[in-house]
Amino acid sequence: MRIVLLGPPGAGKGTQAKLLSEQYGIPMIVAGDILRERAKVDEGIKRYVESGRLVPDEVITGIIEKRLEEDDTREGFILDGFPRSLEQARALQEYLESRGQKLDHVVFIDIPEELLVKRLSSRRICENCGAIYNLITNPPAEDERCDICGGRLYQREDDKEEVVRKRLEVYKKETEPLVSFYEELSVLRKIPGNGAVEEVYARIVDVIESHGN
Ligand SMILES: [Zn+2]
Repeated sequence: MRIVLLGPPGAGKGTQAKLLSEQYGIPMIVAGDILRERAKVDEGIKRYVESGRLVPDEVITGIIEKRLEEDDTREGFILDGFPRSLEQARALQEYLESRGQKLDHVVFIDIPEELLVKRLSSRRICENCGAIYNLITNPPAEDERCDICGGRLYQREDDKEEVVRKRLEVYKKETEPLVSFYEELSVLRKIPGNGAVEEVYARIVDVIESHGN
């Protein structure tokens, strides 16, 4: 089964990918992780990763295609963080077609923007041990103090509301064309992303099973 996961930052894609990977026995392929790995041995990629610039479509596409040729993907895969542009989506489609394959499901975890802003801007990190809390979904017992070590909790610059809104803008611009692209191919499975991790996961499995795998 070949799956692509789409969804905004804060939608819990990584967690869902891991659960799916365990349940269906197929590898999760996380574009960001692969890039960071490659950056260790490839100066060109290292420069992109360190500067925070987007890696060009043909570069990331090449890296992902190479990964998809490994043996563990014979029964399928779960892609997270790729494709991120229409160009990448088309390239992936062509690549799979050239191998007589296709995507089975593009799982799109959809969450109202206001809920996301609230979730993401509620994240706090312990300045001492690095433990991650969320004032809404995973609050510390005592306000602004780490349960584990008693350290002070702070908010990362990335999680401030203005920055979160900008990140979501970028995400929306990137993702909307992909949603239409996959809708036309009849593989888009839109999943409401509100609620607990287990609830969202149950919805995903339901949709996958009901479409057959
Ligand atoms: Zn701590």
